[in-house]
Amino acid sequence: MKDHISRKVDELGRIVIPSDFRSKLDIKVGDKLHVAVVDNTLVLTKSVPVCTFCGSEKKLNYEQNNKYLCDACVKKISRTFR
Ligand SMILES: [Zn+2]
Repeated sequence: MKDHISRKVDELGRIVIPSDFRSKLDIKVGDKLHVAVVDNTLVLTKSVPVCTFCGSEKKLNYEQNNKYLCDACVKKISRTFR
């Protein structure tokens, strides 16, 4: 697999990410990608949901408006408001 390729940008500013790249990076239809410009370079990063409070990627069991809470933070919060 090539690790670089040229693609044309369409009239709406879209490009197609090659299927080999999507496969390798486990990017699926509906996944969110973070888009940034770093040192004049466009960087796409797969967005991974994390806990809003602690940044953990594990045991995210509560979601509201794309904000997530992990089990540990839910327990801490529920102890605080007892
Ligand atoms: Zn947390």
